[in-house]
Amino acid sequence: MQQPISGYHQDENRDWVAELACGHYQHVRHQPPFTERPWVQTEAGRESMLGSRLDCRKCELGAPADEPKVPKAVVESNRERTLALIQAIARGDAEHIAEAYAEDGKLYTMGGTLISGVYDKSQIRQFAGSVLEAFPQGLHYTVHAVTAEGSRVAVEATGRGRHVSGQDYVNHYHFLFTWREGKLLSLKEYMDTEAITEVLCGGQRPGDA
Ligand SMILES: [Zn+2]
Repeated sequence: MQQPISGYHQDENRDWVAELACGHYQHVRHQPPFTERPWVQTEAGRESMLGSRLDCRKCELGAPADEPKVPKAVVESNRERTLALIQAIARGDAEHIAEAYAEDGKLYTMGGTLISGVYDKSQIRQFAGSVLEAFPQGLHYTVHAVTAEGSRVAVEATGRGRHVSGQDYVNHYHFLFTWREGKLLSLKEYMDTEAITEVLCGGQRPGDA
């Protein structure tokens, strides 16, 4: 699929990368005699090629838009922040949980349960404090795997706790954390919604009388 060039940046090796209108990035190296792109070496040359079209393989693959490269040190600190936050959630540390979020941060609880929805920072603050009411002894998370890439950290985990009703609660999660400058922009939690309805909502579903 042909896409017009809308801008440029350099990668960590100072090679030029074209930013296409579709949101994908593509290297535009000048590597004679294999690839002749002398225009990429001067600002005037790059300017003259704005709007010209390149074949975008990523469009054909249905790839999501590319993002600016995140330094390795930032990826690693996002991973650490994520693990610390999971521990804070487990012990019901409302202050740590709320402070982890950016001012415009959001929590997405997936599914169609009574507690599913999108929550902003002030709602998260209230929510976080109620974890200990639901689980007086706290929750225990076993983290099975962490994948950190760009600004995102994905976590596979199992959560266990004794609900205030006396029932044992076990759920399997796939969390997706997105960080921005050290603050949490979004946390999406994917889990077994049946377990939430049965234990956390006492069997109640939206629409029940
Ligand atoms: Zn594309």
